Amino acid sequence: MGKTPDFTSSLHTELFIDGQFVAGEGEAEKVLNPATGELLAQVPEASYEQIHRAVLAANRAFDSWSDTTPAERARLLLKMADAVEANAEAFARIESLNCGKPYARAFEDEIPAIADCFRFFAGAARNLHGPLAGEYLAGHTSMIRRDPIGVVGSIAPWNYPLMMAAWKIAPALAAGNTVVLKPSEQTPLTSLLLARVVADILPKGVFNVVCGRGASVGQPLVEHPLVRMVSLTGDVSTGRKILQAATGTLKRTHLELGGKAPVIVFDDADIDAVVEGIRTFGYYNAGQDCTAACRLYAGAKVYDRLVADLSSAVKTIKMGTQDEAGVELGPLISDRQRDRVASFVERAQMVGHMEITAGGKMRAGNGFFYEPTVIAGARQDDEIVRREVFGPVVSVTRFSDPDEAITWANDSDYGLASSVWTQDVGRALKVARKLQYGCTWINTHFMLVNEMPHGGVKHSGYGKDMSMYALEDYTVARHVMAKL
Ligand code: NAD
Repeated sequence: MGKTPDFTSSLHTELFIDGQFVAGEGEAEKVLNPATGELLAQVPEASYEQIHRAVLAANRAFDSWSDTTPAERARLLLKMADAVEANAEAFARIESLNCGKPYARAFEDEIPAIADCFRFFAGAARNLHGPLAGEYLAGHTSMIRRDPIGVVGSIAPWNYPLMMAAWKIAPALAAGNTVVLKPSEQTPLTSLLLARVVADILPKGVFNVVCGRGASVGQPLVEHPLVRMVSLTGDVSTGRKILQAATGTLKRTHLELGGKAPVIVFDDADIDAVVEGIRTFGYYNAGQDCTAACRLYAGAKVYDRLVADLSSAVKTIKMGTQDEAGVELGPLISDRQRDRVASFVERAQMVGHMEITAGGKMRAGNGFFYEPTVIAGARQDDEIVRREVFGPVVSVTRFSDPDEAITWANDSDYGLASSVWTQDVGRALKVARKLQYGCTWINTHFMLVNEMPHGGVKHSGYGKDMSMYALEDYTVARHVMAKL
């Protein structure tokens, strides 16, 4: 294992308000390396006064920012993409240290996707389309405008801290809004580095970062009367709190909440491909992914082979710290999250009809590691099938007829992502049509592109990230009519 390169010069703890870097005036939040449990930094959170100043700055900046042309905003978003790329190693290093994820995954998978997100929205800003202007009432010309909304409060989670922030910031800025970003209190470091590298690119006040906990910093941001829209990626329970907090000011909300992705494997599926796919897409980011392929439904004829082959494959997943050679699976974000995952598996074991065919244990020693786990024999009513674990745990349930599989897949509070595995294209498309999920993959899982929307139905929330749909979400359609 090589020595971890020095990253300290990229590690910043100051908030970014109105173009200035300022120390938070609130309580200090401990930021850890989950692979060792060691302290990486202490980040003092924003005081109410600082949150207020950030919102006022964003509100002041809105007038001139919303007057810029799409071409001008695109030019600056492209510079942001270049700045992310120019600092790719620092971003990847800090993200992997703070989340525990393998460095190579952060560097090779996340940072390029983040730069591409800014580039996509740079282009998108110049390509909004809509209905034609025309005389829909005789003697009157009507036209549609798509205007920005105002100050957007963007609240991000800890699983992909910078990517989730980018998914919110890029469309909001592209549409002409200004932003106050609140990263997760557990993972603020890459957002604070982003502020450093874009400080000279964006005009003062257009982008602000305030750190801190949900109750003390997130909630006041949501309640602030000058914040016109709140965008959250987080838990369903947090989504509910944000909706309640937003009622006072009737603001727009954009919610990307949890998931419990069903994976339907028909008897004619290519089982080797399924095993390889689930080994990757069920355990990527230690399963801390709202689209994780975590709830398998296997046809009766392939069930036994799938359980056996998947369990063998999962036992070969290499768990370890960020820079270990060949590492595939890092720790969970915190000891709390690891205990939560462990308690799901313990309760599943106690039920009696389920069998742990791989993993099922915490790793002794430092860090918040939990073994990649397969639970076979799960039934539709079991907690492990119904609730989001957000860890490296996949359940397998046997089904006997295709309609049962579709019914079970849809029998969930969640509706974010799903997949269907079969060699019959007609069947795949019919099932995709029936699944009540924001996304259905066929013979793959987990693949996202900036051109296509990501978002849920039911308790998984509403509003889209990525794609032109996200850009529209950050605008308001307005009608202008002139009497001729
Ligand atoms: P979380 O809901 O605990 O926190 C998300 C963010 O909300 C954090 O910044 C937190 O500080 C803030 N927050 C918490 N309470 C708040 C309040 N009352 N007011 C304002 N802000 C508040 O979620 P998490 O634990 O960081 O992330 C994991 C969850 O996010 C999982 O449930 C996962 O499924 C979901 N997630 C969803 C998607 C998606 O695209 N649908 C993507 C990633 C994660």
